[in-house]
Amino acid sequence: MINAVIFGPPGAGKGTQSDRLIKKYGFIHISTGDLFRWHTKNDTPLGKKVKEIMNSGALVPDEITIAMLKEELQKNPHAKGFLFDGFPRTVAQAEALDKFMKENGTAIHHVIALDVSEAELRARIAKRRTIENRADDEDEKLNKRITEYFGKTIHVLPYYQKQNRLSTINGVGEIDRIANDIAAVLDKK
Ligand code: AMP
Repeated sequence: MINAVIFGPPGAGKGTQSDRLIKKYGFIHISTGDLFRWHTKNDTPLGKKVKEIMNSGALVPDEITIAMLKEELQKNPHAKGFLFDGFPRTVAQAEALDKFMKENGTAIHHVIALDVSEAELRARIAKRRTIENRADDEDEKLNKRITEYFGKTIHVLPYYQKQNRLSTINGVGEIDRIANDIAAVLDKK
């Protein structure tokens, strides 16, 4: 069983690469952003709680996010491997994830960070906005999400680097080349 995290700022291409990795490796894809969007769309109690936070572009508190994630993991006890996308976004989340995986006799083996400059990702998000019409991508929210990434989320990287689990991939360029670079990390024995 291999468990991996795909990491990067909003617009780095995590979704595109995740789709390929799911097909190639049979991962169960756990995207906390997708899960939160499902809850808000279906107006669940959790959805009601996080709607405003998400609409502002801020991070949902760790306690809520971690509880939702654990519940999702418990739904898939026989998974071949998990691919985490958009989680962890804080060191507290990374620690909680390690603890949970350890309790279940497994671990996070690889953290793949897609390296994309701020200027490049702002251009990508602006382009995606014209195609997808995602409610969380208005300009001021976008600024907030980028601020949250560089203010909080990026500090997760040294946590994994210290433990030799981090691989940084150049996230600018051909989708196939990026996918190959990721596969080279995951296939390493
Ligand atoms: P995403 O699609 O991954 O960019 O997530 C969309 C929004 O969901 C984020 O802007 C946050 O408000 C919330 N969210 C998703 N994942 C997390 C997380 N791991 N921690 C806190 N908030 C999250």
